[in-house]
Amino acid sequence: MRAVIYDQALEPQAREVADPRPGDGEVLITVAQAGFCGTDLHLHHGGFGARFPLIPGHEGVGVVTALGRGTTGFDVGQQVVVNPNAYCGLCAYCRAGDLVRCENLLAVGVNRDGMFAEQVAVPADQVFDAEGLDLDTAVLVEPASCAMHGLERLRPRPGSSALVFGAGPTGSLLAQMMAAGGVAHVTVADPAAAKLETVRGLGIDQTVPIELITDDNAESVVEGLRAASPTGTGYDVVVEATGSATVGNLGVPLLRNGGTLLVYGVAREDARLAVSPYELFRRELTVLGSFAEMTSFEAAIAMLRSGRVRTTGLITHRFGFEQYADAIEAAQHDRSAHKIVITP
Ligand SMILES: [Zn+2]
Ligand SMILES: [Zn+2]
Repeated sequence: MRAVIYDQALEPQAREVADPRPGDGEVLITVAQAGFCGTDLHLHHGGFGARFPLIPGHEGVGVVTALGRGTTGFDVGQQVVVNPNAYCGLCAYCRAGDLVRCENLLAVGVNRDGMFAEQVAVPADQVFDAEGLDLDTAVLVEPASCAMHGLERLRPRPGSSALVFGAGPTGSLLAQMMAAGGVAHVTVADPAAAKLETVRGLGIDQTVPIELITDDNAESVVEGLRAASPTGTGYDVVVEATGSATVGNLGVPLLRNGGTLLVYGVAREDARLAVSPYELFRRELTVLGSFAEMTSFEAAIAMLRSGRVRTTGLITHRFGFEQYADAIEAAQHDRSAHKIVITP
């Protein structure tokens, strides 16, 4: 089969590789398409626990082609999506049922072969039925599951207000998840007008175009966003969905008393937030992190099936295996790129 494969960081190649065979308890899937995301950029540079040689791609949809020995519960021809994340079952966190915090996470497309390939073989317990979902929605189930985990971490108070920094695919999905999860008013802020237009089309209450944050304009951006909040006093929840600590630093000043800052974007490991401990104490603020997901696929699929969470307009770019370098270029430098999809 053909696939995108890395023998080492920075050097993706589209070439012929051995066909995968489904092992015991595995499902062989013919991939229809797979989403490209920020994680793939980290992998390109050898980060995020990449194990080479590697076929990346962790956000895939396809059709069951064959079942390994002892595999049940799926039919050949069934449309399915893959939860890329697997837990070890042996570490102290797993044994306590805290699966997403597993110390030995395995992930399809990160440290085992993924879905920028014509076919992939994965354990059946990571495969989910996606019959009836259109392909461009199904390809967003994985990011929607990560957004669902964010919602599960937040457990927002019904009737509260939220601000999301970053109108990227995951920010757009999490904004909708929060609205469906009881938040009364959701604002999304981003410098990219086209992305905000897409977010408005998805039914988000308010979008605010902002400048790229610098030390010079941070204060005026905070003032503008506070004034735009429903009460004029800030937000009960602020989500940092850009991965920038500069943006994250606007979170606490924009929280109402008792509010929660959710760190949801992937920041550089050496980045630091500047937070006033006095303010955390006096205003009883919470800072939460949300990383990936382990058990949120079923709930995310339900949200997409019912239409509570929509994906219309999120996919802007498509590339074949041979244009993988163009996909990386677009993800890094094309401001109009929202969700990029790789198609065999
Ligand atoms: Zn991803
Ligand atoms: Zn574990």
